[in-house]
Amino acid sequence: MEWEKDAKEVVDSIPVPEIMKNMTILYAEKLARKNKLAKVSMSEVIQTRNDYFDLFGPNLMKRLKEIREKGISDDSIDPQTALNQGPLLYQFELCHSRFIGCTRMVINAVELGKKLKQKLEDWKVTEMIADKFDVPFMPHTLFTVSISSCPNNCTAAEVKDFGIHGIALPAFSHPDKCTKCGKCVEVCIDEAVVMEEGGPVIIQKHCKQCGACAIECPTGAMTIAQQGYRVMVGGHFGRWHHIAKEVFKIGSEEKVIKTLYNAIELLRKEAKSEEHLYHMVERFGLEPIYKNL
Ligand code: SF4
Ligand code: SF4
Ligand code: SF4
Repeated sequence: MEWEKDAKEVVDSIPVPEIMKNMTILYAEKLARKNKLAKVSMSEVIQTRNDYFDLFGPNLMKRLKEIREKGISDDSIDPQTALNQGPLLYQFELCHSRFIGCTRMVINAVELGKKLKQKLEDWKVTEMIADKFDVPFMPHTLFTVSISSCPNNCTAAEVKDFGIHGIALPAFSHPDKCTKCGKCVEVCIDEAVVMEEGGPVIIQKHCKQCGACAIECPTGAMTIAQQGYRVMVGGHFGRWHHIAKEVFKIGSEEKVIKTLYNAIELLRKEAKSEEHLYHMVERFGLEPIYKNL
């Protein structure tokens, strides 16, 4: 689609990460089509900028602007690069909150990633996998740890060897503070909050434990009752597709580390050449992973 010159200059300066830049361009073009225009004009760009600023919120936008003004590229601030600097036979996949945060994050994926990397180094996981495999190593040889900062689970933890995502259980803990403004109902995209006479009620079976209703509550009536990590093991993508099995729905950092240790020990003791954690989970179930948790 064609663009007015000044409109293109402005959209290029919206301080979103490079990975998002094309999204803003496509969004502005959609607005132009909606307005039945042949070219994208300044009015669509202003609308695009406002909608993205609303989506990210003032804190995130401030940090994005600072990074943009300093001329720092996304690649150079990517914490995943340092975690995966090799040669290694494991890898970390962290969600996009790793750059400057995300409006949805409930745990810090980067900090957890650093701690788990230290453990994998201490446990000599690269050497262990290397000694198991009697064929040349390929990228699919890697043991993958996926960490997402919220249940949106942008790194698809269900199809990784070891999948983690942040989780936040909401509770309507201070009914006296509730003004029945309806914000908690509005922000829950799972329709897990309904407004009743006494205030909002959470339908537990629909709740994804993202914490948004509590984060957005303006009075503190809805709060996060518990925060932690959900862990899944034995996922795999590709020719032998496996959805990971849940080890626990919510647990502490210590529990995550113990679970990782158990998974690595299971591989160390039982895996044959070219076997992944999903082979272990298929053969032995989750019992060895639950040991001492
Ligand atoms: S997983 Fe959640 S916190 Fe991470 S990038 Fe996706 S939405 Fe943001
Ligand atoms: S957002 Fe908070 S104050 Fe508003 S209805 Fe929900 S619990 Fe009550
Ligand atoms: S935690 Fe998330 S999914 Fe659960 S009720 Fe609140 S907004 Fe909805």
